[in-house]
Amino acid sequence: MTDKSDIEIAQAAEIKPIREIAEKLDIDEKYLDLYGKYKAKIDDRLLKDQKDKPDGKLILVTAITPTPAGEGKTTTSVGLADGLSVIGKKACAVLREPSLGPVFGLKGGAAGGGYAQVVPMEDINLHFTGDFHAIGAANNLLAAMIDNSIYHGNPLNIDPRKITWKRCVDMNDRQLRFIVDGLGGKANGVPREDGYDITVASEVMAVLCLSSDLSDLKKRLSKLIVGYTYGKLSEQKPVTAGDLHAEGAMAALLKDAIRPNLVQTLEHTPVIIHGGPFANIAHGCNSVIATKMGMKLADYTVTEAGFGADLGAEKFLDIKCRKAGIHPDAVVVVATVRALKMHGGKAKNQLGEEDLQALKEGLPNLLRHVSNIRDVFGLPCVVALNAFPTDTQKEWELVETECRKHDVKAVLSEAWAKGGEGSKVLAQEVVRLCEEPNHFRYAYELEGTIAERIDQIARIVYRGDGALLNDAAEKEAAQIERMGFGNLPICMAKTQYSFSDDPKKLGAPEHFKVTVRSLRVNAGAGFIVALTGDIMTMPGLPTHPAAENIDVDENGKITGLF
Ligand code: ADP
Ligand code: MG
Repeated sequence: MTDKSDIEIAQAAEIKPIREIAEKLDIDEKYLDLYGKYKAKIDDRLLKDQKDKPDGKLILVTAITPTPAGEGKTTTSVGLADGLSVIGKKACAVLREPSLGPVFGLKGGAAGGGYAQVVPMEDINLHFTGDFHAIGAANNLLAAMIDNSIYHGNPLNIDPRKITWKRCVDMNDRQLRFIVDGLGGKANGVPREDGYDITVASEVMAVLCLSSDLSDLKKRLSKLIVGYTYGKLSEQKPVTAGDLHAEGAMAALLKDAIRPNLVQTLEHTPVIIHGGPFANIAHGCNSVIATKMGMKLADYTVTEAGFGADLGAEKFLDIKCRKAGIHPDAVVVVATVRALKMHGGKAKNQLGEEDLQALKEGLPNLLRHVSNIRDVFGLPCVVALNAFPTDTQKEWELVETECRKHDVKAVLSEAWAKGGEGSKVLAQEVVRLCEEPNHFRYAYELEGTIAERIDQIARIVYRGDGALLNDAAEKEAAQIERMGFGNLPICMAKTQYSFSDDPKKLGAPEHFKVTVRSLRVNAGAGFIVALTGDIMTMPGLPTHPAAENIDVDENGKITGLF
């Protein structure tokens, strides 16, 4: 048990020089680009040079439908990588980079928790190696080139009312959601309605994370759709970054950002942290390059997908794995007694009280996620019960017994309180699962219409009665199919708080339909975003943002980052 805050634990830790961590993975010096003592970038050419080396095992960490605080996927992932190291395996974790928005907003840091953290946590949470700033710069260069082209006679015939490309900044700043720019008369641009997204929501982020190398990155950047030409819907043509000749300069800005970053856990297990696309309007997992690098370098690579398994794991498997030609050898579904009680109807402010009845009634949520992993995707799976200080022994036993009845093993994970030692049992089970038969398949194939694929996800993964496209979405689907993008995978933008599109439907809801309000094609990333409900691409700060408690002293020591 820990009474110290995450940052206190992290600052008390001894950090090893990053060269020593690289040695654990046998990374040759020539691939290592040092960013100070404790951070390094790994040259992506390592992947090409070692392409004949067999891949290690891949373990995906996902979760039940979460509470707003998160159920501990990152904490479990970090602990599991440490646990694998403790039992003598060559392991690493591959994770997303945190965004400044949530760091200063509600959620605080995103580099694990308790005794399962990645360090140096202050750096990782603030700027890190500058990747997000580079992504923002590339995004905003393209935005500047769009308006510049319109200003200089608009040779591409771009309709300023149909520009879909937004500017971005890595901050929660609701004030910038809708803006008017280009004001001040003829010399100062063409006035139009515009807006900002948070950097992690930029398609450049999704593109970087799905690219296989710099050439592929450039190809994808050139396909980014920035808006449409004047004319009736049926006559409009997409205008791309390629039409603006922007992809070369954008890729130049991203040449370092495309290289994965190497850091370490508190127990000196190597961790690769790279990329962090939004989990709603994008696919929500770290870069393909980083995951593949982990698999080349370690025997066991642990990676995480954002949100619950209905969103995170589904997109990891159907989008990222399909693009990258990889798939997990085993899946860990993180559950907490607290969240299960919430799914069983217990009030959010009483989740610390023992309640076996509510726990039992919340279990169908976990079992549905487990069934998706095993029966829909055909993958071996274990439940990691992330132990909270408020849980009781009886509650853990109930989860273990009920899971056993459904033929899935639930293992207590004490990563947060005990790091690698607290994750040994989980590590052993994962190693065993990696040798089990694997019948991986996607939840849907890429044939058929867009509407049919969304309907399949809603029935097969969410277990509802299918999906409805409203009028606007139907028109957009027709336009996307007309433009020749009809066969891309679907990136569902849905609430993370329910299997349905209604955040109030907890547990394992039945007999619901998912309503799609709008569809967008991300031609660079290579998926179609299906928006259900209100999905925010520029968050705001709460009444009391975490930023109010963050400080730095005269020696540069940071406090208040939790
Ligand atoms: P996720 O990746 O699923 O969003 P995190 O691993 O980031 O979740 O954990 C969310 C928060 O909960 C973090 O602040 C972390 O320190 C805290 N946390 C995670 N596991 C535990 C635990 N077992 N006990 C107490 N706090 C925990
Ligand atoms: Mg996380």
